Formats: sequence, C-alpha cells, structure tokens
Amino acid sequence: MVNLLEFDLEALTAFCERLGEKRFRAVQLFRWIHQRGCTSFDDMSDLAKSLRDKLKGVACVRAMDVVSQHESADGTIKWLFDVGGGNVIESVFIPEDDRGTLCLSTQAGCAMGCRFCSTGHQGFSRNLTTGEIIGQLWFAEHFLRKHLKRDERVISNTVMMGMGEPLQNYAALVPALKMMLDDHAYGLSRRRVTVSTSGLVKKLELLGQDCPVALAVSLHAPNNALRDYLVPLNIKHPLEELMPACVNYLAHAPRDFITFEYCMLDGVNDSDAQAHELVQLVKHYGHSVSWCKFNLIPFNPFPASGLHRSKPERVLAFAKVLSEAGITTTVRKTRGDDIDAACGQLAGDVVDRTRVTIRIARQRSAELNAGLATDAKI
Ligand code: SAH
Ligand code: SF4
Repeated sequence: MVNLLEFDLEALTAFCERLGEKRFRAVQLFRWIHQRGCTSFDDMSDLAKSLRDKLKGVACVRAMDVVSQHESADGTIKWLFDVGGGNVIESVFIPEDDRGTLCLSTQAGCAMGCRFCSTGHQGFSRNLTTGEIIGQLWFAEHFLRKHLKRDERVISNTVMMGMGEPLQNYAALVPALKMMLDDHAYGLSRRRVTVSTSGLVKKLELLGQDCPVALAVSLHAPNNALRDYLVPLNIKHPLEELMPACVNYLAHAPRDFITFEYCMLDGVNDSDAQAHELVQLVKHYGHSVSWCKFNLIPFNPFPASGLHRSKPERVLAFAKVLSEAGITTTVRKTRGDDIDAACGQLAGDVVDRTRVTIRIARQRSAELNAGLATDAKI
C-alpha cells in the first residue's frame, strides 16, 4: 500500500498518471486529503467510483500512531508519535492570539550533538519521510479543527524546530515544505513557514533556490571557539562560511531579515562582552545591522547537560546591548513548560514515558487517527 501522505502534488500527479487517470484527479485527491483531512476513498464523493475502487486496492492515507497527547495550562498541546522501531517524535501546537504555530520534527533524534540540546544528547536514529513530516501537520490541523470546533484553518505557521536537523534531511523536507505552501493543501505563506538550522551551509544555499522559506539559524555563540564547543557542526562549517551563507540567503528569502536563535546559557555565552562581540560579528558581514534579528531563548535545562539557564536580568542586559546597537531582539516566551514541550525538552525521557503509556495509547491512537476524536487526553 502506498501512503498518499508521502506525495506532494507533483508526485501525486505522477502516481495518478500511472493509474491511467487524468492529471486533474490528483488535485481533487490532494484537496480531499490535505484540506479536508479525509482518509476514506469512499467519502471522496466527486471521484469516480472506478477510481475510488482502484485507490482502495493500492493506496491509503495514514498518519503515524499517536502515543500520547498532553495539553498545557497555556493551551500548548504536545503529541508524541510512534514512528516504529522504538522511535518516537514530537510535535507541539502553540496557540497565540493572532496565530497558531506548529513545531515539527524532521528526524528521529539528531546527529549534530549540540551540548545544550536533549535531542542532540539522544543521538541520531533516522530521517523522517516526507509523509511523516507532513503527517504531523495533517494530523494536528484536522484534529484541532474538531477539538476547537473550528471550520477554518487553525495552524497558520509552521516551524521546523522540533527534533532533528531539517537540512540534514533535505530530500524529504523540501516536498513537505512544498505541501505546506501549496494552495491545494495548507496554503501557508512562505513567510510563515520557518526552517531552523544549526548551519548546514551547502544545503542552505540549495534551500534558497529550491524552496525559499523564512530562515532561522541557531547561532548560540559570537566566535568560533565557543561555537565549536556548543554546536560541533561549527568545526566543519565555521562562522566564515555560515555568516556569508546567511547573508546570501536574503536574496531569496521571503522576509528581508533572517533570525538568529541564541540559547542563553549561564556563564557560558551570556556576558555583555559576548553581546558586543555579536554586534561586531553582525556588522562585519552585513552593510548594516538590520539584516538579522535575534531571538534569545532561555535555556531549558536537562540534567545530562550540566548547563544552567541565564538569570532573567542577565538575559535583559544582553538583549539591551543588542538593541542599543540597533538589532531587533526578542526574548522567547517559554511555552508548555509544564508538559515538557519547551525547546530542547522534546526528547526528555521520551523512552521512559513511552514504555508507560504505549499500551494504553495504542488503543487510543486508532481512534485518534481514524476518527480524530475530540477528547484525546491520554
Ligand atoms: N536542529 C535545528 C532545529 C531544531 S532545534 C536547529 O538546531 O536549529 C530548535 C531550536 O531549539 C534551536 O534553536 C535550538 O538551539 C533550540 N534548543 C535546543 N535545545 C534547547 C534547550 N535545551 N533550551 C532552549 N533551546 C534549545
Ligand atoms: Fe540537533 Fe538542533 Fe538539537 Fe543541535 S539544537 S542537536 S542541530 S536538534
């Protein structure tokens, strides 16, 4: 059985042609799947019965099993999905007044080994497929419409900031991004789809050509010595390569800036001197400082890291140095803390929790997947 969640519109069109069907059938099918969340070919009423019968024999529409769902007091919802082989991945929905953001995973685990990231400590299991990446959005969007009793779109923004390094899974990522942007599917604006990367320079260049979306780069340090330590990928692609790649991306980017993420670590990268060094770094590579923004992320601690969160007043002082130099700087609000859904906590004791919940969850996941049940608290 072919899972049709794996196909962007181009691939679905080719698939329909192989079945001897006209190209426009692919658009109809694509809309049923992604816009309406339909999993049953019998329900796709404007498709000829002969096509529906053909599809039933060879294809299915199926997202991953939901292992658990947790809803935070602030409305944040976190799902844990079973991707087989003992691997679980997470997605987080973050509601705000003017938007709904889904944070997606692109890999099970991550090979980059950043010191401050629990996914990095967990190591790499495997790349997700296109269907597993888009399946997170497919599931969340259609579940939330029912859960929140809304007819219109709930998720307006996506960020690839869950588990994994998106650009290391480039071949599966790009079709998934195209589906997010496709008007026949989710129709998200390029400005509202953000790829976050630790700095795979060559793939960054390709992304600008293949599918330019908003870009966030995980910087975390103002110089190579510290960045080598915090983000080991820097040894391969140092700032002399990364910074020009970021500036060049602006030629394609849907926004006129890129965002630098900077995880605030007590006594490691949070001094005023380091903030001034960052300002110099930004000035060195751009004509002005307006080509980038900074998003300071309070570190979410986990025991194995041996690192600590910067004090709030330190974060503010650091932000002040950047702001006074003319750099737009925000401090990320931490959401979903009570359900371990905050950045870098996604992998936190996933394995233990999975063992406890997997048995009950298996029963519920069939319901969630098929009926998109509304009372899904496990
Ligand atoms: N691999 C990509 C995207 C996933 S990580 C990347 O590194 O950009 C998404 C963001 O969460 C990154 O900016 C990362 O630095 C940040 N992050 C990871 N662990 C964190 C932690 N423990 N506390 C706060 N932010 C963290
Ligand atoms: Fe991977 Fe991003 Fe975590 Fe680094 S911060 S280990 S690149 S998920």
